[in-house]
Amino acid sequence: MNYEQFFAEKIADLKSEGRYRVFADIQRQAGKFPTAFVHKDGKVKEITVWCSNDYMGMGQNPDAIAKMQEIAGGYGVGAGGTRNISGTMHEHVLLEAELADLHQTESALLFQSGWVANLTTLSTLGSLVPDCVIISDSKNHNSMIEGIRHSRAEKHIFRHNDLEDLENILKSIDPDRPKMIAFESVYSMDGDIAPIKEICDLADKYGAMTFLDEVHAVGLYGPRGAGVAERDGVMDRITIIQGTLAKAFGVIGGYIAGTKALCDFVRSYGTGFIFSSSMPPAVAAAARTNVNHLKNHNELRIRHQERAATLKQRFRDAGIPVMDSVSHIVPIFVGNAVLCKQASDDLMERHNIYVQPINYPTVERGTERLRFTPTPHHTDAHMDQLIEAIKEVWSRLGLQAAA
Ligand SMILES: *Cc1c(COP(=O)(O)O)cnc(C)c1O
Repeated sequence: MNYEQFFAEKIADLKSEGRYRVFADIQRQAGKFPTAFVHKDGKVKEITVWCSNDYMGMGQNPDAIAKMQEIAGGYGVGAGGTRNISGTMHEHVLLEAELADLHQTESALLFQSGWVANLTTLSTLGSLVPDCVIISDSKNHNSMIEGIRHSRAEKHIFRHNDLEDLENILKSIDPDRPKMIAFESVYSMDGDIAPIKEICDLADKYGAMTFLDEVHAVGLYGPRGAGVAERDGVMDRITIIQGTLAKAFGVIGGYIAGTKALCDFVRSYGTGFIFSSSMPPAVAAAARTNVNHLKNHNELRIRHQERAATLKQRFRDAGIPVMDSVSHIVPIFVGNAVLCKQASDDLMERHNIYVQPINYPTVERGTERLRFTPTPHHTDAHMDQLIEAIKEVWSRLGLQAAA
């Protein structure tokens, strides 16, 4: 086989479909978010970032920066091992306690990323709980799908956020078999939110565990930022809450929270936990600083929701086709991969606005979109500039206005 030719052809396929991914080469500037520099063709210019998952700008929290510097100076930069073999730093222990407190659970367990937390936890439970059946929302994130796949457990997919379909599936499974319902709270490409309480009711009725990915909600919802389950008063009904430290908490890493026995089980049997070196202590310390900060600053969440609501309203007023969203995520419909990329390129090149195109396989073909994530740092002036830029690009590319 001509390997090189094979690779080149597969890449050419992506390019012809308009969904070849080009990474913007960004240089963030602490203290100036959402302003950043972009490097392109040897040139540098200043842009406004509109698509970061650093939803609160916590990546530049001065306390977290100082903490990271302090702990790197004190411990050195790496942890030096897996958690079992010399790699459990006191900062990991403190961060796990902070996360268990956040979710009001007995325990929490850290991973290198949210992706690894999902993969490891779902694959470990699905493979080791005897005869387990996993019932998974059709819009679940790739990391959950991979975890379920690796578990080789029997899997059923229910229609997105559809309680009737979920109940029909639960009903069809032998009542004595162990079951787990795997779903998310905020779905990050559409901005809709799962009916968590009703899913918990079904879980109780049919004796199922619940696995809830709150990656796009931790730090952002609930009076202490523990997520939508906290906001809805059902946090104590979830078997496993999974989150990330890389989005609203602004650093890197993932975790699960649950009972002592459950976390100990995944700690003891999960290969993605056991065989991978632990995160640098300075990283854990910075993450803990931000988790604690957002626990105590509900006014940031209020401002965040206000910014998102304002942007949605302003898009509507301007006839820009904003999609339905009940969360902080603000997607605009394009519906064509090539045009979506073109709109994104034009916004960057002509207007110094950065929003990444969202194409298949992240969303279904024909539903390509631009996904905006306003933060507490996006001002009215940023929005003025954005609206004018979108109007210009939409009319020049002949894109559809709002219906
Ligand atoms: C980003 C994401 C993850 C993975 O988290 P990372 O910490 O970025 O690895 C998991 N679930 C969902 C829904 C996500 O969007």
